[in-house]
Amino acid sequence: MKIIVQKFGGTSVSTPERRALLTEHVLRAVGQGYKVAVVVSAMGRKGDPYATDTLLSLGQNAYPQLSAREKDLLMSCGETISAVVVAGCLQSAGLSSRAFTGAQAGVFTDSTFGAASCLHVDPRALNECLEKDIIPVVTGFQGIDSQGDITTLGRGGSDTTAALLGVALKAEMVEIYTDVDGIMTADPRITPNARVLHSISYDEVYQMADNGAGVIHPRAVDVAMRGNVPLLIRNAMSDAQGTLVTHPAGMAADITGDETVANISVLRKRTQAILKQTDPAQVQEILQLLAKARVSIDLINLFPDSAIFTVSDEDSGVMEPILANHGIRYTLLPGCAKVSAIGEKMRGIPGVMARVLTALQSRGIEVLQTADSHMTIACLVRGESADEAVRALHEAFHLDR
Ligand code: ASP
Ligand code: MG
Repeated sequence: MKIIVQKFGGTSVSTPERRALLTEHVLRAVGQGYKVAVVVSAMGRKGDPYATDTLLSLGQNAYPQLSAREKDLLMSCGETISAVVVAGCLQSAGLSSRAFTGAQAGVFTDSTFGAASCLHVDPRALNECLEKDIIPVVTGFQGIDSQGDITTLGRGGSDTTAALLGVALKAEMVEIYTDVDGIMTADPRITPNARVLHSISYDEVYQMADNGAGVIHPRAVDVAMRGNVPLLIRNAMSDAQGTLVTHPAGMAADITGDETVANISVLRKRTQAILKQTDPAQVQEILQLLAKARVSIDLINLFPDSAIFTVSDEDSGVMEPILANHGIRYTLLPGCAKVSAIGEKMRGIPGVMARVLTALQSRGIEVLQTADSHMTIACLVRGESADEAVRALHEAFHLDR
């Protein structure tokens, strides 16, 4: 069986017109000889009647103490409604289709309500369906635990469901239909000449998600990478070819003249903390307290007598009393932005950091801190220079070509 999984996000299932486009994508795959399994998110966005946020506020506004198990049951309704509506839409187009909850589709999870991890997928029910040319429409985001309770996989978890089913069904491809043409070299609102990438590696997308550019859930990327299933990110509203996410060896040649960097991402609202005249034991203790307070830190540099790192502006409020209690000298610089150049191919190429710094300094952008890994160079800049920094790096690495 040649199987393809097609996942449709909240906007792609939200109106009859959009569901007609969805049907066209399904019909095209069927016409190409594929057995299609559809995965759906809840319909629409916050404010729309059956959107996840709407359901959540319904429960929480009335009863703020609502327990995690009940919250999951409530949130799961959005996807259940969506699956039934989409199955109905496919049926009305003459296709055989059945709606499945996560449990019915065999998605078994642990009992971490609100952020459940999938333990295993039993694809038998879906395979039976596919063999009979019935199109299963599966609720994204949902699973069931060993007690028979409905769980959810964490916000944005429908992508993860699609990847999990893609692996379990041994699909040729998982198509993620969304409202953009694919993964871009940078945010086009910042860099008007940003363009859609033909292909990108799993690791690069993962780095992007970690550094502020969220087109697809990083967990879905991880699942697909481990299961070796390519992802295709496409626009549900157009025929644009989209971006293929795969292993580097399977990547199509791109049209760039300079392929060192694939994407420039930006993560805003970061606070840089500089601790002065510290001893290593003090710093260790502070880091432990921050971990206990669930403050996640980034861009950390430790020296014998000082330490520098960043936290989110939001977490800075939690951090400050911890620092103050230690009687150490420190300065906090809120509102910074971490601008990252991400590219698998920079591995082992000398001079990439120099190019980054030259590009930023030539535009008078002060670099507060840097960090690098094998495929990412990150620079912390003041928030007001963030957009200019993205444009400078986009140009320096010829990403517009
Ligand atoms: N509906 C869920 C959410 O809004 C899952 C998803 O859309 O992926 O988080
Ligand atoms: Mg999503």
